[in-house]
Amino acid sequence: MSVIRDFLNPKKKIRVPGMEENFYATEDCDGCGECFRRCPSGHIKMVEGRPDWGKPCLMCAACGTVCPKNAIRYGKR
Ligand code: SF4
Ligand code: SF4
Repeated sequence: MSVIRDFLNPKKKIRVPGMEENFYATEDCDGCGECFRRCPSGHIKMVEGRPDWGKPCLMCAACGTVCPKNAIRYGKR
């Protein structure tokens, strides 16, 4: 359990390299920027009105939680 707790704790900064590359926004994204503003690692950029995930991602899942359009997905497009 402590491994899971550490993984979910942004302060621990436990990351698996490359995991952040699987984030994307669906067509439901309206470019509100909430994910950009709430990302604790500050690595989401808004590019032409769409979020663009970079590194380092803490895998905290905050972006997916705050998206009012439920537009953030993780995995294969
Ligand atoms: S999971 Fe989302 S909110 Fe959390 S660090 Fe990564 S991009 Fe930012
Ligand atoms: S919070 Fe959701 S709708 Fe807003 S910019 Fe991010 S992905 Fe798009």
